[in-house]
Amino acid sequence: MNDLNSSNLSGQSLEDQIQAVQQSSREMLEMAHSGIPRAEFLRNAMGLVLRVTGCDAVRMFIRDQHRSVFTERWSDDSDEARLEVTMNDPANPVRFSWTASGNESLEKVCRNMVASHVDATKPWFTESGSFWIEDMDAFPDASIREVQANGCQGIYVSPDCRSTLITPVDGTHRRLGLLQMESRQMGFFTRRNVERYERLVQTVGYAVDLRDIRVALRERVKELTCLYGIARLVAHAELSLEEMLQSAVELLPPGWLYPKDAAARVVLDVRSFATAGVDEIVQKMSSDIVIDGQKRGFVEVGYTVEKPPIDEGPFMLEESHLLDTVARELAFAIEQKSYLEEKRKLQGQLRHADRLATIGQLAAGVAHELNEPLSNIVGFAQLAASEPDISGKNRRDMNKIVSSALHAGEIIKGLLVFSRETSPVKLPFNLNELIEDGLFFLDSRFVKAGINLRCDIDSSLPDITADRAQMLQVLTNLVVNSVQAMPDGGNLIIRTSHDDQNILLVVEDTGVGMDKKTLENIFHPFFTTKDVDEGTGLGLSVVHGIVAAHRGDINVESQPGKGTQFAICLPINPVEDN
Ligand code: ADP
Ligand code: MG
Repeated sequence: MNDLNSSNLSGQSLEDQIQAVQQSSREMLEMAHSGIPRAEFLRNAMGLVLRVTGCDAVRMFIRDQHRSVFTERWSDDSDEARLEVTMNDPANPVRFSWTASGNESLEKVCRNMVASHVDATKPWFTESGSFWIEDMDAFPDASIREVQANGCQGIYVSPDCRSTLITPVDGTHRRLGLLQMESRQMGFFTRRNVERYERLVQTVGYAVDLRDIRVALRERVKELTCLYGIARLVAHAELSLEEMLQSAVELLPPGWLYPKDAAARVVLDVRSFATAGVDEIVQKMSSDIVIDGQKRGFVEVGYTVEKPPIDEGPFMLEESHLLDTVARELAFAIEQKSYLEEKRKLQGQLRHADRLATIGQLAAGVAHELNEPLSNIVGFAQLAASEPDISGKNRRDMNKIVSSALHAGEIIKGLLVFSRETSPVKLPFNLNELIEDGLFFLDSRFVKAGINLRCDIDSSLPDITADRAQMLQVLTNLVVNSVQAMPDGGNLIIRTSHDDQNILLVVEDTGVGMDKKTLENIFHPFFTTKDVDEGTGLGLSVVHGIVAAHRGDINVESQPGKGTQFAICLPINPVEDN
């Protein structure tokens, strides 16, 4: 292919010439069939035309719906072809030729040929509508060669051209453009060979069409494979959003023209999901992920090795459409996934609340049943202990019965609070003061345990209407848990803040934290991970009962080994139960 002059048609027998044309036609079609990139295809195709005809320069102009492509190759050019791709702009019609003097005869010829407005009976035209000058000196319009090769885009006649042929290039269904050959030799294009060259150009037309179709088909298959993969990910309910995005990003590079050098990244909010090589990208394209009218991130695909321009840069027009489609699909998938996750979370919360309510009912029932016999135990034991004639030992035993029964009573009281059987007495007070009072009692415990207390108090905290004694119990239970969670000391942070409707109390520690299983059970009465004399497992059940009775919310975040944060949100003016 590089040896352009070795086998051209001039000076060969007719049979050899026909064979050479057939051979190069075959080569051209094979090349088109393999769907090689446009630039490479055009360079090789122009090379074949040069080789088989032996002319000095070939220029071709073709256009489709989106773009216009000019290409030019000279026989003495080593291996290079000039290629210019411009996107069609309706406001700016394409010029086929460019003449320095402003004489538009060549431009008109080209324009008419492209529009198929050619009268083949006119001089200078062949029967099949090519424009042909056998001897430039005999051509009447001298201005046709007044061209400036420099910066010229399209069909032109170079200063040392002596003979030229401009032939329409037809695809299967429409006229694609024009192909021009020129020679420095007078009479190079003759009646004898023009017809053969016209047939060769026909093959060029088919090949251009075939290559476009092959590439479009291949790209369409890649595009559909990519979109199908993403659709499958979206349908895969088990995948988390993160897993889905990571798998989706891996599907992108194979959808691009040079998959081996492609890398991709999806950025959503502050999270990034990427394939290998994404940091070495030198040329890239991106499309925004828009959810609910808001830009939440983007999808980006790029090459790690510089690629030659096709269409608007190194990427194909189809690829930029594909990327937009992918961004839309992902936005849809993200929305869908977040909705499902939100729903799942809500269902979990409902199940949890339901379970706690059932346990509450059970606990309330048991507590009520036990209350009476317990009162009897305390009453009669106290009575027996007050008998004057019992021994000191018996009295001590009686008192032990009383204190154990009172302890049991406390537990029952806790159960009743948990199941909201004790209604709170709601009066306005300030939570900051409660914290100050409550911590005063606990202070000695902090020092002993090596705990560093920090209070981050909202000084403009409004009063809330709530049961002060119960709120003190909430604070105490949370603080005691935190202290117990930091056997080797640590930081305890207590925060308050507020907005228009709610106040927020946060108790945070740097203690042992909780695993997922513990977290699921902490509000269940009697659930404890502590020794018998350390915990009853009622603390958080009571907290839960109190907060629920105040129409508030508890949010817990915990990481094993790192710490725990309890956030309690309480309405400033609770709506009364009826
Ligand atoms: P108790 O303290 O009597 O065990 P709670 O209802 O107060 O009962 O707490 C239940 C369980 O929740 C605890 O046993 C402990 O495992 C876990 N827990 C509660 N608060 C914390 C905390 N701040 N850090 C780590 N674990 C905690
Ligand atoms: Mg506790």
